[in-house]
Amino acid sequence: MTTCGPSSTPTDLDIPALREKYAAERDKRLRTDGSAQYIHTGQGERDDFFEADPHSPPVVREPLHEDVEVLVVGGGFAGLLTGAHLKEAGVEDVRIVDMGGDFGGVWYWNRYPGIQCDNESYCYIPLLEELDAMPSKRFPDGAEIYEHCRAIGKHYGLYDGALFGTMIRAMRWNETTRRWTVTTNHDDELRARYVVMATGPWSKPKLPGIPGLHDFAGHTFHSARWDYGYTGGSPGDTVLDKLHDKRVAVIGTGATAIQIVPYLARYAKHLTVFQRTPSAVDERRNPPTDPEWAASLTPGWQKRRQAAFHAFASEPFPTLSPAEDVACDFFTEVGRNVSARIAGCTLEPTELAAIREQEDYGVMERVRRRVDDIVHDPETAEALKPYYRYLCKRPCSSNDYLETFNRPNVTLVDVSATKGIERMTARGLVAGGQEHEVDCVIFASGFEITAQDLSVASGIDAIEGRGGLSLFDHWRDGFRTLHGLTSHGFPGLFFTGNTQGGGNASVTANYVQQGEHIAYLIAAATARGAATIEPTREAQDAWVALIKELAPPKTFLEQCTPGYYNNEGGGHGGIRPATGERYGRGFYEFDRLLRDWRDAGDLAGIELVR
Ligand code: NDP
Repeated sequence: MTTCGPSSTPTDLDIPALREKYAAERDKRLRTDGSAQYIHTGQGERDDFFEADPHSPPVVREPLHEDVEVLVVGGGFAGLLTGAHLKEAGVEDVRIVDMGGDFGGVWYWNRYPGIQCDNESYCYIPLLEELDAMPSKRFPDGAEIYEHCRAIGKHYGLYDGALFGTMIRAMRWNETTRRWTVTTNHDDELRARYVVMATGPWSKPKLPGIPGLHDFAGHTFHSARWDYGYTGGSPGDTVLDKLHDKRVAVIGTGATAIQIVPYLARYAKHLTVFQRTPSAVDERRNPPTDPEWAASLTPGWQKRRQAAFHAFASEPFPTLSPAEDVACDFFTEVGRNVSARIAGCTLEPTELAAIREQEDYGVMERVRRRVDDIVHDPETAEALKPYYRYLCKRPCSSNDYLETFNRPNVTLVDVSATKGIERMTARGLVAGGQEHEVDCVIFASGFEITAQDLSVASGIDAIEGRGGLSLFDHWRDGFRTLHGLTSHGFPGLFFTGNTQGGGNASVTANYVQQGEHIAYLIAAATARGAATIEPTREAQDAWVALIKELAPPKTFLEQCTPGYYNNEGGGHGGIRPATGERYGRGFYEFDRLLRDWRDAGDLAGIELVR
């Protein structure tokens, strides 16, 4: 295996000019309505894009009226990893509820052609050692990851009691029973001592706020609910043979579209890609897993590899040398180049930020020049170049996305000047005053990741704690938690995902960390004979204050082009990071903090409710 080192990036850069160009490109796209521009799905609006399940028959059953020890909302990685830790901690009565027909979360729903993991699977796919599993290649297909989710479910006995095809409608704390009353679309009434929210940020598709969206008379679907009946093919067979006489439009050019577009181009009569902001697309090194390397791994290898990956990809201060960068790809490139520059130096945060910015310009310029090397038409090539800083948007990799725009049956339509597609008509889409007639529109328009309204983001109508306090109101001006996991006034309710905890470049490691801590809390409360637990207001306030004190300045996000990473550049709701309010010292410092807290054994800041 070759050793990694700093990458070669262009040095002939005019950084002040690029800085101006980045600002102009951002301003061109900024909208005053921010995230309010989107149209929500579900709750009566395009339910077929959210609630309808193309992969499993509808579940028909009698309503359940039962007591449950731990109810987990969501059976994706967050729910599975919490469930696994609960079982390991000896908590047996765990009931995972999911609207899908099986475990998997995003890997259950997203079955579009070309779907693959896009960050290193050896880090991203959790519990590889525990399940004695190994991905077939560096970025495996979605189906393989879905099977791994199912394997976790089987390995930890999580299928027992799982409720699929079931949507939570409301959750209300009952002071008399000291339990949560949870109601569902099947009229179930589940009385849970503990509830873990594991709905994940990518569960609810959203639609672009294009005037006339409902006027279009052709076929439509969202990338997360792929309609193989219309396109031909199946999740295991990407020959989309029914598209040979179809004019297809794709709206969006994020990480999903990068994977879909080459397949559509191959089979559609004509493909029009509507782009508001281009993604940064690097080459995709995706070799099969080397069996000799796999055999050489020693216990603990996955956690060590994750730590090395995160050191370059997401930790605030690079601490390793470039040779230790095991992933050695676009995700780690800026961090690796920074670490090469600062080796052995002690730097002020502003000096570090300045070096990071220079390396960022170099890497993004390398990626822009890659576009010129691949795309023949200069105007199309220019439109495909990302003018923003690395990590303003999800970094992408593909060996055939940019190449697709050299095909005669593919057109790129740049809608940046009008901040999006102007309108939809019965026949197609209007951009630059020109109508593009199409038979089918595929929305690769993303998910409700930063929706201001938590009810919209979760798809749950009500979450009410003590005294009927709505979680949506409680958090309207920002999260209020202890360790990102519990909130005062909401006894026995736990959160996972992006709240006020650690964060890194492979989200599943967050879920492992959170699942472990939640399982510890529940097991500790049970061992002490508590009816439930709740953080004290003082502990919560102190945690919120610490999170705010350590928060990095918002300058980076303010300067970014709009997207879900910065809550669409502000506008309605202001600049908010999609990653929540992360603990500013980094994922591993947060991990140490949680471990020390557990080791102390006194449940500091947690009240046992008797
Ligand atoms: P995104 O939110 O990243 O992209 C949505 C796209 O729709 C953007 O290109 C956006 O443009 C465009 N859009 C929205 N409104 C309009 C409009 N009115 N007119 C024209 N275009 C519009 O969604 P994705 O599904 O691509 O990705 C979401 C996330 O899912 C990723 O960032 C990643 O975290 C995850 N993912 C992970 C994968 C994996 O393999 N692990 C694979 C795919 C996705 P603009 O950018 O200008 O807002």
